[in-house]
Amino acid sequence: MNEVVIRHGVASSYGHRGCRCRECTAAQSAHVRAWRATSNGKSRSAWAKRRRTRRHALVVGWVQANYPAVWTAIGKQVDKEFGC
Ligand SMILES: [Zn+2]
Repeated sequence: MNEVVIRHGVASSYGHRGCRCRECTAAQSAHVRAWRATSNGKSRSAWAKRRRTRRHALVVGWVQANYPAVWTAIGKQVDKEFGC
């Protein structure tokens, strides 16, 4: 039987082995934080943020246009959660 030995506390175990233990999650967070501090990471993160924002805007417009009752219900739910 082939058992895979996972080394904990390293980002590669999080990414390639799917380990979500506390040590591997912390290592992955540190890895991503360090990557985002690089010039390439900064530009890629900014690009990803613009992409998410654009996608969100399209989704909102589509729901408002095609399912106005759903949009209203979502708004009421959010207002309720925020005590409005
Ligand atoms: Zn682990």
